[in-house]
Amino acid sequence: MNDCLPEASPYWQQLETLIRQLVAGYGYSEIRMPVVEKTPLFARSIGQVTDIVEKEMYTFTDRNEESLSLRPEGTASCVRAGIEHGLLYNQEQRLWYMGPMFRHERPQKGRYRQFHQMGAETFGLAGPDVDAELILMTARLWRQLEIGDEVELQLNSLGSPETRVAYRQALVDYFMPHADQLDEDSRRRLDTNPLRILDSKNPDLDALIEGAPRLADYLDDESREHFDGLCTLLDAAGIHYRVNPRLVRGLDYYNRTVFEWVTESLGAQGTICAGGRYDGLVEQLGGKATPACGFAMGLERIVALLEARSDQEFAAADVYVIGVGDTGAAALNLAEQLRDRCPGIRVRLNCGGGNFKKQFKRADKSGARVAVILAASELERDEVSIKYLREARDQVTVPGRTIYDLINQYFLESGN
Ligand code: ATP
Ligand code: MG
Repeated sequence: MNDCLPEASPYWQQLETLIRQLVAGYGYSEIRMPVVEKTPLFARSIGQVTDIVEKEMYTFTDRNEESLSLRPEGTASCVRAGIEHGLLYNQEQRLWYMGPMFRHERPQKGRYRQFHQMGAETFGLAGPDVDAELILMTARLWRQLEIGDEVELQLNSLGSPETRVAYRQALVDYFMPHADQLDEDSRRRLDTNPLRILDSKNPDLDALIEGAPRLADYLDDESREHFDGLCTLLDAAGIHYRVNPRLVRGLDYYNRTVFEWVTESLGAQGTICAGGRYDGLVEQLGGKATPACGFAMGLERIVALLEARSDQEFAAADVYVIGVGDTGAAALNLAEQLRDRCPGIRVRLNCGGGNFKKQFKRADKSGARVAVILAASELERDEVSIKYLREARDQVTVPGRTIYDLINQYFLESGN
């Protein structure tokens, strides 16, 4: 679990701001769920024999002897909340959320025990159009973040639950005679969750997996039609994708569309966003059958992409207020006035005194572009000075009452 330090937080803020604008632009509403739920919710939705439920959940017994878990993802909680508050019954919903998730994984680059996801979930919409909308929404975000060239969309269809039963059997029939070639994990999955063998990251199994039966050959007609419909919509929208028959996702609730956005720029943990359709989940958790589709993106991995390519310098302040000599309350007051009258401009006040040189050093370190200097000797004449910290430009002394317009003008002109 990580601390997010001041040097990293501007990237987070930038991403979070863009995300809020993005979802607003698509007419999605925010939902906020608690970070703990009753454990059976996750076991029932994500699936008993998945990595998450088998070995990654933070589960504990609370004072009422009830088993609770820190949420490992948002979809189950979102569906639970939707059912509980009657948001899903005979309605359409387009929801989004953002926040921490918890999985007890082996920590490594791009894989943490507390990480953050932004997710979107849609309910009551059965057609491929909303699948396409969700994908377009993510594609827009990559464009805005200027990482569009670094990510690839992978797409597959898991078909209906019946498709999966038939396909599961085909996989067992195929892998069983080769069981000795499988690694321990995959051998275990042969009994519990054979689809997950396809998801194996062990390169030794590549050839064997390559020869496995293809899910596409088992798709039911309606699922095929849905998938073709989605592909047509994506083609029309100019979204490039690769159909990846091995893409099965690690959670049990998916059917039909599944997708992942993958990058090569992050090493092994290259999936920055993953999602798909889960038409059976609402009913399975006690609601009325409701088609649903959504995704979740891993914010740490996206921030890592932004940090890797950025030469941005993030300043903490735009204006630094310096007081020379005994200025009493005047410097504090000037800083307050600047905040009142120069909206959007970040003002840092020198606190703790110090000679001019020392204050000037602090001003420089703050990243501010301008220092406003208040000298005790000029107080009576009501004059202040402006010193430009990032350009060769003469310091000027002006009447105190004009400083606000000058500052506003300066930052307007320099495109702040
Ligand atoms: P992986 O195959 O990498 O384990 P997953 O299938 O378990 O991923 P999802 O449950 O689909 O992941 O979560 C959606 C996204 O959340 C992932 O694509 C990834 O970007 C991010 N994510 C998942 N687990 C972690 C983690 N432990 N640390 C950081 N990000 C994560
Ligand atoms: Mg995982």
